[in-house]
This record gives sequence, structure tokens and C-alpha cells, in this order.
Amino acid sequence: MVDRLMYEEPQSMSPSSSDSKESPSSTPIVTKASTSPSPFSAFTPKIVEKRWDHNAELLIQQFWEKEGLYKFNVNSKKSIFTIDTPPPYPSGRPWHIGALAHYAQIDMIARASRALGYETLFPIGIDRNGLPVERYVETTYKIEMRSQDRERFIELCAHALDELEAEMVGLMKREGLSSNFANKYRTDGGAYRRLTQRTFIELWEKNLIYESTYPSNYCPGCQTTIADAEIIYQEKPTKLVSIAFKVRETGEELVIATTRPELMSSCQLVMVNPEDESYKKLHGLHAVVPIFEREVEIRSHPGAKREKGTGAVMICSFGDYHDVTIFRELGLQEIISIDERGRMTEAAGKFQDFTVEEARRKVIEELTARGLVRRMLTIKHEVPTCERSGNPIEIIPMKEFYLKQLDFIPR
Ligand SMILES: [Zn+2]
Repeated sequence: MVDRLMYEEPQSMSPSSSDSKESPSSTPIVTKASTSPSPFSAFTPKIVEKRWDHNAELLIQQFWEKEGLYKFNVNSKKSIFTIDTPPPYPSGRPWHIGALAHYAQIDMIARASRALGYETLFPIGIDRNGLPVERYVETTYKIEMRSQDRERFIELCAHALDELEAEMVGLMKREGLSSNFANKYRTDGGAYRRLTQRTFIELWEKNLIYESTYPSNYCPGCQTTIADAEIIYQEKPTKLVSIAFKVRETGEELVIATTRPELMSSCQLVMVNPEDESYKKLHGLHAVVPIFEREVEIRSHPGAKREKGTGAVMICSFGDYHDVTIFRELGLQEIISIDERGRMTEAAGKFQDFTVEEARRKVIEELTARGLVRRMLTIKHEVPTCERSGNPIEIIPMKEFYLKQLDFIPR
């Protein structure tokens, strides 16, 4: 079958036979095709089957592979056309049909460039780093990464990746991608790692990489920072607690509503809206944070919305990104009450080591016992959660490497 499907150079393309049309002594015309070769191809397919059989594709693909038809020849005299493909990620099965559709588009470019006479590099790599495979292994084997031996877990990931990768590559080949499969690369391979490390060192030596601590989205479940795109806002019933703070100078009560009472240990400021008449007399005074007995300034700031809660807000490091902005704007000193395990730090005093949720419950209990809860409502609150593990996201300052980019923005 392969032979019948092969593309052969037809005789009609040679100068002598192409002239044959004009020659009265030429062989009789058999079909129209044989006398007027397509101007687009030097080949005429010789397919005898009337109906297309999908199995034929497998045979063609075997032939492509045997002949090394899409190998990239680095020593070629032709101009080189390189396609930079982002290596796809084996995050689960089956591989998404959208990815196949996308690669089909890349394949069209590769085939067009070959037809235009370029030596075409269409690389195929597999991205084998990152979180999705860790989550995949955890759910497949019903285990938790942190409770596993590191080497054993890496082994399980590699095993899962091998299986997923074999499926992906099988699909790519079945789709008919004209890629350079012979030189398939893996992002956890030795050569690739050397390349990424060398790139990092090069950037470091050029002083383009710096280490800094910035508030980051942190998932205590996955124990890693995550991107904004990996956050899902889930509407969850949340307690809105109105807490009685005391104004130090006057002794009067200032009620502040919050969904994060456990973050009072990180409170560095109380804000009221400048337009709010009832709070005008408090500008510049100090509020005493209940339980923790710390004094923080009461400042007027448009960031405090009159229609929200009591109109007075506590600014903590960090309840949300509004807090991050205010800390940055006013140069406030961060107090970190939640650690990388999602537990309370020493800054939380007697609530240290409790999980965030436990601490929240305990703080509300204590406030209630002290008679400082003025109102408690259960509201529907948009809680940022991790796309993978479903854990609520915390904003925790993390030391990370950053790549300088601002210098390269065209002005
Ligand atoms: Zn997570």
C-alpha cells in the first residue's frame, strides 16, 4: 500500500514528454492530468483508492519517519527558517483538541516555508516542569506531595510525564505534524537545563536579574506563589465582623467592619473618608487595636469608602491588594502574620501556629468574650482561591528573583 501511495516523479515532467502533446507521434492521451501537469507540483500522486482510508495516513506517516523527511539539516545550503514553538505542557489526558488545532496552524507555516525552499526547523519540545503534573500525580495516586519522599515524588512525576508525553507525541504524529521529532527535547533534560542555567547566569552577570521581596499571591495548599491568571474568585459565605476599636486620645469607640479579624495583628493604619463629617474630629488621632493593644494612626484617605462597612477601615499587611497599594503609597512597615504554611506567625501572639481559619474563629471568640463585637453578618464574599487546590490565596511577601524589563520598554 505504501508503494501505491508514494509520490513518484511523473514522466510527463521531463522536457521530452511535456513536449509530447504537440507531437503527433506521441502516445495517446490517457487522462487529462497526465498531459497537463499541475503548475504547483513537481509530483503527481498515484493514489488508486476511490475512498480515503484513514489507515493510509498511518502508512504515510511511517514512511515520513523512515525517510526522515522532516529532519532539520543544519548544514543545508538553503536559507534557514526557524519556528519557535513554546513547548506544550502534558497536564492531563487527553491532550486538549485546541492544542492540536494550534499546532496544525504552526504546521501549515512549516510546510509553506519548505515549499518556498527554506530549510525549516520546526522543533518539538515537551514542558516537563511546573505545578500541573504535581497536582496530576497527587490526584492520580491520592497522595500529598509534601508528605512524600522527594526523590520518590519526582520519580512518580517523571513516570506520569512519560505516559502523558507518549500520548501527546502520538497525537502530534497522528495529526501529521511535520515536526523534527527525531530531536524532540524535554525541559527537564540535561542539555535543556544547562541552557536555562547558562541563560540565567548570563543575565545575572549582566546585572539584569535581582532578588527582592514583594507581596505575592501565595497558595498555602500548593506552597508556592501563583500567577494572577491562576486565581479564581469564589463567592463564599463569610462573616463580616464589626469590631469596637478605642480612640486613644478621647477614649471613644470607633467601629470597624472586617472579614479578616485575624489580621488585626498586622494592622498598621485606620483610614476614614475625608468627606465623612462624623469622623473629621478623629483625623490624626490614634486607634488602639483590640487584643493586640497596638496604637495605629487614624488617617483620612479617599481609599476608605463611606458606603463600605462603617466607613472606617483597618489597613493590614495584607488583606487584599488594596492594602498592598496603601502600604506602598504611604510607606508603611509590613507586619507579617501568616507564614508559608498558611499558619499564623509570632506576630499573631497567642494565635501563633493556628491556621488562618482557626485563628479567625479564635479571634472572633475572644472579641465576643471581651464584648467588642458590635455586629456580625454572614455575607457573600468574593474569596480569591487557587485554581488548582481550591485553597484561599494569601498575599505574602516572598523573596524571588526578578528580571529587569522596564529598561527595555521603548520610549
Ligand atoms: Zn494551590
